[in-house]
Amino acid sequence: MQMSEAYNSGRRGLVAFDMDGTLLDGRLVFALADRCDAREEVISIMESTLHGYERSKAIAMLWKGLSKYDLLEALHSIPLCINARKTIEALKGYGYAVGIISDSYDLAVEHLASILGMDFGIANKLVCDDDGMITGRIEMPLGWERVGCRCMNSVCKRFHLKIIADRFGMGREHTAAVGDSNNDICMLEQAGISIAYRPKNLEVKERAMYVIDDLYDVVDILMNNL
Ligand SMILES: [Zn+2]
Repeated sequence: MQMSEAYNSGRRGLVAFDMDGTLLDGRLVFALADRCDAREEVISIMESTLHGYERSKAIAMLWKGLSKYDLLEALHSIPLCINARKTIEALKGYGYAVGIISDSYDLAVEHLASILGMDFGIANKLVCDDDGMITGRIEMPLGWERVGCRCMNSVCKRFHLKIIADRFGMGREHTAAVGDSNNDICMLEQAGISIAYRPKNLEVKERAMYVIDDLYDVVDILMNNL
């Protein structure tokens, strides 16, 4: 039997998780909005006809004047989804590379990835000044413009799942993605195994190979398929 590159990298496979609504039982932008009374603005931007990346830019502007500390405090106010920690620990134990691909902010994603001992985290870079104050600007990883993805989000999860898989020397067949929302759809399409966790709408549900209500089901699905 010919060994694949995935096995040469020493990992059994690679699993990318969305953050808000998938690892976190809530959304960071709402926790931040509650700190500056901006929930209505966030909702109106989210429901606007702007492209995804334009929405990300507009929402980030709302946090100007908050500090890095405020952001981490907001992050800590959101509980992890049930079995999130147990699921990540099990996947690591079975030899999977695990990480987060999110259109949230690097400060939060890297912090959560570090708490959970994950291998990678991709997100918008939230630009802060020398005093640790949020400027309202973000640097967006994008990627859809390079692969022709229709998502037009600040983080094209399809593109970044492929980049991360390449970095770990893994083909698409050794990748899995777990998400719940529209911005996860292109990542679900890219992954070898796509899992919708408590999907927010029918479209997300229909794009996934598996629909689960308990995050730990990810472990069982991957052990049988990846
Ligand atoms: Zn995309």
